[in-house]
Amino acid sequence: MTDNRCGFVALVGRPNVGKSTLLNHLLGTKLSITSRKPQTTRHNLVGIHTIGSTQIVYIDTPGIHRAQARAMNRYMVSQAFTALRDVDLVILLVEARRWTEADDEVLRQIDKSGSRCICALNKIDRMHGREELLPIIDDVRQRFDFEEIIPISALKSEGLDSLTDEIVRRLPIGEHMFEPGDITDRPTEFFVAEIIREKIMRRLGDEIPHRIAVALERYVVKSHIVEIDGVIYVERKSQKGILIGKRGERLKAIGQDARRDIEELLGERVMLRLWVKIKSGWTNDDASLKVLGYQ
Ligand code: GDP
Ligand code: MG
Repeated sequence: MTDNRCGFVALVGRPNVGKSTLLNHLLGTKLSITSRKPQTTRHNLVGIHTIGSTQIVYIDTPGIHRAQARAMNRYMVSQAFTALRDVDLVILLVEARRWTEADDEVLRQIDKSGSRCICALNKIDRMHGREELLPIIDDVRQRFDFEEIIPISALKSEGLDSLTDEIVRRLPIGEHMFEPGDITDRPTEFFVAEIIREKIMRRLGDEIPHRIAVALERYVVKSHIVEIDGVIYVERKSQKGILIGKRGERLKAIGQDARRDIEELLGERVMLRLWVKIKSGWTNDDASLKVLGYQ
């Protein structure tokens, strides 16, 4: 008989409520990329947190929104739905200050899945205090039979200890699935490509980020440096122009931002070269999605 606990916990919610920020602050490591733009998180991402005899396997998910026509959007929503079905516990993230129709939609999916659910009211750092919070908690309590309702600030790491305690209590007894030091199940190259995508998301306006994918064409570890060639795919020539910028300045800035973070991730010096290529219609083409890792 073991005293160990181990289980899967899905972080779900509409886009932009702070799921990836929460994962990073729970783990104390920047694993999942974040930005104000939708589609920042496209894949389910595993983040492993081992605390003594307990192992929590978090799954950060793309935001759940109403299914849309484009293949990329369908892929993202299906990722989130898969996570809902196969976990021991669901954390529904909402913004404390406003419950929206999109939150209702996510809640309907949780209800359908039959999973147990804790509601985390995020971004309380933007509120004026307890008085503002109490009526919100009352309102949220009417909406669903939540296991708990916990106010947090993912960004300021407030309330995360209470959240963790409530999660741990609900995990099944069982052997750990990962080594104590593991934090994820994906290879380093995945995170390198994601860092590049994050810098693009943060340096571009609202429309183009949806049309961008990043692939690594070369990744060579030498004794004093890691050499990386990355290709940024866009759908149209105009998008390529915007990404490159005047005299190549935007692409250069993206490359510098990315290199800094990649060096921190790898603990090594990095030479990063970026190219932009046009692959028309890739976001709505199943074959292209598959080649770019969205499958
Ligand atoms: P996701 O789409 O749900 O994964 O959301 P992200 O984690 O990418 O966060 C979306 C935006 O909300 C980012 O700009 C975050 O910095 C911001 N954010 C996340 N958590 C908090 C929080 O607790 N307080 C505040 N003020 N902003 C937050
Ligand atoms: Mg995210």
